[in-house]
Amino acid sequence: MQTPLRSFNWPHLLLLLALWPYAALTAATGWSADAVLGAGTLGALLWLMLWERRLPQRQQWQAQPAELARDGAFLGINAVADALAGALLMGLAIYWASFLAEPGWAADLPPLLALPLAIALGELGPFALHRLAHRRPWLWRIHELHHRPAKLNAANSVLAHPINVIWNKLARVLPWLLLGFEPQVLLWAALFIQVQGIAVHANIRGSLGALDLLIGSAELHRWHHSVIEGEAQNYGTAIPLWDQVFGSYIRRPGKEPALLGLYEPSDDPSAIPAA
Ligand SMILES: [Zn+2]
Repeated sequence: MQTPLRSFNWPHLLLLLALWPYAALTAATGWSADAVLGAGTLGALLWLMLWERRLPQRQQWQAQPAELARDGAFLGINAVADALAGALLMGLAIYWASFLAEPGWAADLPPLLALPLAIALGELGPFALHRLAHRRPWLWRIHELHHRPAKLNAANSVLAHPINVIWNKLARVLPWLLLGFEPQVLLWAALFIQVQGIAVHANIRGSLGALDLLIGSAELHRWHHSVIEGEAQNYGTAIPLWDQVFGSYIRRPGKEPALLGLYEPSDDPSAIPAA
């Protein structure tokens, strides 16, 4: 396999930078949280799909029409799964509100501290379940759907079992509710995580340079989809923090796995092979 030329993944970086003016615009015009999340996610998906055509990491990873139809169906199915999880969380929030008289602890934090904290906490539960799903056959049966394609692109980032979507949302949002973050902080943490979930799967060449020590990148996440179990690390998507803390962070600038797709997980994965 030929190592691709090293370049900077600026469509990904521009997308993240655009979240700031998008926040200002939607706040000024009074958009609902659902509208901000929905339009932001779809806008990010379309932006990344556009750049996949112009700057593909691998030409053969481009989404074909039948795959786009499949991914579109999963986008719809998983929007329903996400809404079901949201309804369940709303019920829990109302139940808690009946005996939680004081605002939550996190509501007092300044936004510039609350936002990174909400992102880090929002990633911890899904990260732990994701690692477990690669080790427990009964969870792998649900999660493996996401690993079936032998290619990665923005469209197939949504290919996941609805139960997988529900457990991710519950694990992400329950700690947020318990700690009582401001709704605006949660909205931006959720949008960042959602946009990152698409961007790290995008078939766009280049890296984020040293930034991927702080935020997730496609170059990092491709290792997670390797067919070699020891390489299939980097369980986090939005940020690599928990991989760095728990020893599953792989960073090999300019390199990528030879093959993507399914593998047969063992209970005791082998050590991470040398680069
Ligand atoms: Zn996985």
